[in-house]
Amino acid sequence: MIPKSEILKTLAGYDKKKLAIATLCSHSALQIFTGAKQEGFKTIGIVTKKKKPMYDAFPLAKPDEYIVVDDYHSSADALNSLAERNVIFVPHGSLIEYVGKDIGNLRVPIFGNRRVLFWEADRHKMFQWMKKAGLRMPSSTGPDKIKGPHIVKFPGAKGGRGYLIVSSPKEFREKTTHLIREGVVAKKDVEGALIQEYLTGVRFYPHYFYSPLEKEGLRVGEGRLEMLSVDRRIETNIEEIYRSHAAGLKTEPSFAVVGNMPVILRESLLVDIMDMGKRVVEASIDLFGGIPGPFCIETICDDEFKFSAFEISARIVAGTNLYPKFSPYTPYIFKEEMSTGRRIAREIRLAVAQNKLDKVIY
Ligand code: AMP
Repeated sequence: MIPKSEILKTLAGYDKKKLAIATLCSHSALQIFTGAKQEGFKTIGIVTKKKKPMYDAFPLAKPDEYIVVDDYHSSADALNSLAERNVIFVPHGSLIEYVGKDIGNLRVPIFGNRRVLFWEADRHKMFQWMKKAGLRMPSSTGPDKIKGPHIVKFPGAKGGRGYLIVSSPKEFREKTTHLIREGVVAKKDVEGALIQEYLTGVRFYPHYFYSPLEKEGLRVGEGRLEMLSVDRRIETNIEEIYRSHAAGLKTEPSFAVVGNMPVILRESLLVDIMDMGKRVVEASIDLFGGIPGPFCIETICDDEFKFSAFEISARIVAGTNLYPKFSPYTPYIFKEEMSTGRRIAREIRLAVAQNKLDKVIY
């Protein structure tokens, strides 16, 4: 990974009065650009020819300038060219999907701490982080010890696509053999699969923002933790599988995210939600220098109102797109309209004013 000192050198050469905010045109780019404009930044979008008309269709959200590339998978050169253009780059889920490990070596300063992308990508590291944060987590087991419903997550499976539910070693063998035969997964994917206790309850995905610069509010580390919003994912086909079951079909559940729904939480649950966020930030500070910026904890709340967490997304998540102006929580933190996209730009603006950009980029 490129050393942070190199990124700070690039940043030292920037004209701080002319900073621009850039991202890949995908995922939550409309929100990121809109927020950046609200905070007075120029915006640059890396886009493919095919996607550009979609962004042009939203005149208030489209970037001020496009850099057109053939394919996001090979956009590293375009991304690196941004380091000559006063750009802070905002990462999101599609960047991770398309650019992958190359993100580590990008020369352009990235909002947040790029080290976290590697803690997020590696399940063992992610669990180490979650354990250190003291989060309640589903247990995991080996293929020969499965007893009761478990969810099988193959390495690199995206957005819950291809997950299996199995209740015994025999069912695991039968279903995975079938998938290998069909060419859906490779043998090594089955060997590397995570077999996790299937949790019963309701899912909540709270969206947080950690600011190392702000002081008033819930103090964590040297800054404050904000809870900006909550969503629930719409996943096919698990969401409405009762309809198939009612029709007498024995459909296998799948968990591919296709949308998001807004959620407001019972107010007494906010204590635990804030506490989980606080501990995730504190553990991140100890393990890899912190997570300035947005993140989300994927949780399931059981009928005793206890939360378990099964993943952390350490960046802006698509569920925040529900709240381009405000969420049910942001009016209690900000007087003005505030989205996660705008919050990112606000943090950059604050960091410039306090001469502390080094605290919010890597
Ligand atoms: P993930 O890829 O870990 O984000 O999981 C994708 C989806 O699978 C989640 O949004 C949940 O709906 C479901 N899921 C993941 N882990 C569990 C679990 N341990 N128990 C029940 N459902 C889960």
